[in-house]
Amino acid sequence: MLTVGVDVGGTNIRAGVVDAQGAVRDTARVPTPRSEAALEAGLAGVVAELADRHPVGAVGLALAGFITPDRRSVRFAPHLSWRDAPVADRIAERVRLPVVVEHDANAAALAERRFGAAAGASPVVFVAIGTGIGSALLVDGEIYRGAYGVAPELGHLRLVPDGRDCPCGKSGCWERYCSGTALATTAVELLARDPARSPLLGRLVAGDPGQVTGQRVAAAAREGDPVARAAVAELARWLGEGLALVADVFDPELVVIGGGVSESAPLFLDAAREHYAARLTGAGRRPLARVRTAELGSAAAVVGAAELAREYALH
Ligand SMILES: [Zn+2]
Repeated sequence: MLTVGVDVGGTNIRAGVVDAQGAVRDTARVPTPRSEAALEAGLAGVVAELADRHPVGAVGLALAGFITPDRRSVRFAPHLSWRDAPVADRIAERVRLPVVVEHDANAAALAERRFGAAAGASPVVFVAIGTGIGSALLVDGEIYRGAYGVAPELGHLRLVPDGRDCPCGKSGCWERYCSGTALATTAVELLARDPARSPLLGRLVAGDPGQVTGQRVAAAAREGDPVARAAVAELARWLGEGLALVADVFDPELVVIGGGVSESAPLFLDAAREHYAARLTGAGRRPLARVRTAELGSAAAVVGAAELAREYALH
């Protein structure tokens, strides 16, 4: 059976037709509409486009937000207009197919477990580093959701008391120090202290600090820019600090690092592993979880959502 996986992001809705081996056979994409009604119409339109071209049996939606444990409703999604909305039933009515909703990090983690970097491992902690941090925990290949569907929110663990403010309402959250956004923030902070140290980033920031993005900092680091390299070293340190906490709680066999920032992993992963190994409780006296990068890239949430749709339709 072919199923449709949909990654409902704050900027784009990206959908794919996926087979039972996790291969994406076809894709479609539209910009994400703002209003609730337009969002649902746009979503149904993308699914209908793919369903016209392929015999699909079910639909899985992946999004960043709080999903009810029955996977039918969205309680809250920071980048989308749904608030306590029965999204699965509304979309199912429009597309005339079974629909299930899942947190995007859970979907991506499941895809990595079935078809990618996490094959056979348990427990698996998935850390998607992008604009922020998305996270998931798989135990024996099953998604762990907690009692109310919210677990785990690792990106909002407070690593730094009185640290950087976070849009979640707290401060000092892990993702404020370990994300693409954090990389840019750190570079701008370092540059403010010593502008002459980085001609490359200095030129960017002179006009508009908003021009300094995580991607640009990573690119500058690859070219040997000293400020960019220092910002990446900070990110590596905080990644290691966070992983040590996470390993103390879950004692995972494997940590998979995904998300857009993971594409720059050669710049920081070895240093992050060293920090992690040094900061773990009982360091040097216990086995270390392996830490590796994801394999499925930006398709992971689509593939995972399609897998969940397949299971949902079959049971
Ligand atoms: Zn936070």
